[in-house]
Amino acid sequence: MLEKTGIPTEEMIKEVFPSIDRINKGPVAVIECYQKIPCNPCVTACRFNAINIGDDINNLPELDIEKCTGCGMCVSKCPGLSIMLIDGSKSESTILFKIPYEFLPLPEEGTIVKGLNRKGEYITDVDVIKVLNPKSFDRTPVITVEVDRNYLYEFRNIRVEG
Ligand code: SF4
Ligand code: SF4
Repeated sequence: MLEKTGIPTEEMIKEVFPSIDRINKGPVAVIECYQKIPCNPCVTACRFNAINIGDDINNLPELDIEKCTGCGMCVSKCPGLSIMLIDGSKSESTILFKIPYEFLPLPEEGTIVKGLNRKGEYITDVDVIKVLNPKSFDRTPVITVEVDRNYLYEFRNIRVEG
């Protein structure tokens, strides 16, 4: 399915997600890098050595969940926008997502925007909690949004309607 549509299957998505117990403990990275390409900025971005790619730069990155502190440094460093952070520790009914977002206009904190699935389809409204765009992120802003837990495996992006 990925080769034909660019969209991972539900099985592929669940394979790279941490357990619900881990998600509920606090922020943790999710790496959705499904295709072998020569790339490794995620590895160098992680000072906790939680991301490993092995000897071949074409290998898929593997996340060591035990080592991931949820610092978020890898999110803006992935050129493929393949990494996000999820955090289920704040509420029983919602999940905080930190996603890379390179479109303009950027959303504004405190507003509601459209939550999209991996096909770019609208699934639900989401609250914009934080917008981070420091120079060190090199033009890849990171947006924190609060999303209904029912969309844990579906939510992937936002649309800001100007
Ligand atoms: S969130 Fe932080 S600790 Fe976890 S993989 Fe990314 S850079 Fe490493
Ligand atoms: S930086 Fe992004 S695209 Fe490159 S290997 Fe890491 S997760 Fe994959």
